[in-house]
Amino acid sequence: MERPRVPREARLSRRAVIIGGGLGGLAAALRLRASGWLVRICEAGPRMGGKMNRWSSAGFTFDTGPSLITMPWVFADLFRAAGSRMEDHLQLIPLSPLSKYIYADGTSFTYTSSLPEWFETLARIAPKDAQKEKDGFLRFLELGARLWEVSRRTFMSRSPYDPPGPGDWEVLRHMPLRYGWGNYDATVRAHFSSPYLRQLFNRYPTYVGSSPYRSPATLAVIPYLEFAYGGWYVRGGLYGIVESLVALASERGVELSTGSRVTRIIKSRGRAAGVVLHTGETIPADVVVMNGDAATVPELLGEPAASTTSRSMSGFVMLLGIDRELPELQPHTIFFSADYQREFREICDERHFPTDPTVYVNAPSRLDRSIVPSGCESLFIMANAPARSGQCDDADVSAARERVFARLHKSGFPSLANHIVVEDVWTPRRIEETYLMPGGAIYGTDSHGWRNAFLRPRNKSQVCRGLYHVGGSTHPGGGTPTVLLSAEITCKLIQRHEGS
Ligand SMILES: Cc1cc2nc3c(=O)[nH]c(=O)nc-3n(C[C@H](O)[C@H](O)[C@H](O)COP(=O)(O)OP(=O)(O)OC[C@H]3O[C@@H](n4cnc5c(N)ncnc54)[C@H](O)[C@@H]3O)c2cc1C
Repeated sequence: MERPRVPREARLSRRAVIIGGGLGGLAAALRLRASGWLVRICEAGPRMGGKMNRWSSAGFTFDTGPSLITMPWVFADLFRAAGSRMEDHLQLIPLSPLSKYIYADGTSFTYTSSLPEWFETLARIAPKDAQKEKDGFLRFLELGARLWEVSRRTFMSRSPYDPPGPGDWEVLRHMPLRYGWGNYDATVRAHFSSPYLRQLFNRYPTYVGSSPYRSPATLAVIPYLEFAYGGWYVRGGLYGIVESLVALASERGVELSTGSRVTRIIKSRGRAAGVVLHTGETIPADVVVMNGDAATVPELLGEPAASTTSRSMSGFVMLLGIDRELPELQPHTIFFSADYQREFREICDERHFPTDPTVYVNAPSRLDRSIVPSGCESLFIMANAPARSGQCDDADVSAARERVFARLHKSGFPSLANHIVVEDVWTPRRIEETYLMPGGAIYGTDSHGWRNAFLRPRNKSQVCRGLYHVGGSTHPGGGTPTVLLSAEITCKLIQRHEGS
């Protein structure tokens, strides 16, 4: 009998199967494919992109996940690694101002990355201490810059378990000895006296789903990166990033399977040898890359669940399409709660939706009229919520909705009564069920304390050879640019340990 002809490339290349087609899975697929691997992505959901997702209804288009990206060069690096150019696919729009902040006492101002403008604002909100606040701000930026200098060449570009390289001692001289090892909130308090500035800069650990009162000061790198390199929107919506990566992946020959939930990782002689889908299909592979939440791996390996580390925060999100324009609304506005400490105590200790939540309102249609019908506005409204630890029923949803609207109302947000044309609500439970992530914890583990912040699940599995992790639940952590960095780190490890 004649044997089936196997293409030469298939005989020479090794096979990688990636569990999950989120941003991390797509980035790993493109990088592995570029270095000669045959790659198949198995995504449980109906489309690629994971939490970077889109919802369209009645002429409105919404991003249901990320609303801004930082560190745009990390995205450009991925396109380059895949043999393309980001600017041929995406139009990035800088956010200026970065955000508007509205406080419970009615104070409001815009936060911009133009230093002269920002200094004018500081003089207005802290007239007696303006010079002190300016100095504090510059020292806070310098702290973030030093932390960035240390982390970009170490933590952000390789596994923390790699042995130190010869350049590390040189890099370590940038490590700020004061504050660098302390608590985030204490560091903010040491740099700012104004309660407005303290609340503003304490918001940044929420970018990685964590409380400022429990996170290490090293997260000061986040406000530095945003101020120094900006925040960015993608014309047409951030889901355009996923569409471009999917198009590139399929052009490059990556096999993309949606509706393909992996129910088991096949382990043979201590090594990952492929996966089994919910349909019973077996897919053999030389390496398995897990893009889904690392906490679900023991179940896929048929092993007892690992001890649970603390989960990052989740979110309560409302997507509203309204039939009026709000020209006075900035694209990004934060309506702060009256008591930030209480809000995080309720989320992280008492584990319930805050009585008075801080509400983030993103109005991408203020930047981009292509995503709404004429005369309309699209609103992405989000409040932090604890990762789900119990049921979430309709009463919980309507209570959370009321609290969000109560905060907006108290802070002077225009009434939306009779203007809502379309609405979709995402709860922690829905996030959990849609993306198969325990608790709907958006960023995997939280960054509370040094261990959680710096020793996340490893990119190369310790329990199974040939198994790797990529995405927000592994090193270096959640948020879109770090997810892309995790793909770079993981693919380097695969090349090192598995060859190509
Ligand atoms: C509401 C919200 C707002 C956000 N805002 C921002 C923001 O403004 N800026 C920013 O940078 N980041 C933001 N993020 C975070 C950002 O979306 C994530 O960090 C990033 O998209 C995660 O990508 P990932 O590849 O790690 O994981 P995911 O996107 O979760 O992808 C993992 C994929 O794996 C699939 N999967 C899991 N298990 C299996 C299985 N067994 N079989 C098959 N498939 C499986 C899932 O279905 C999912 O598609 C936000 C997230 C949310 C939810």
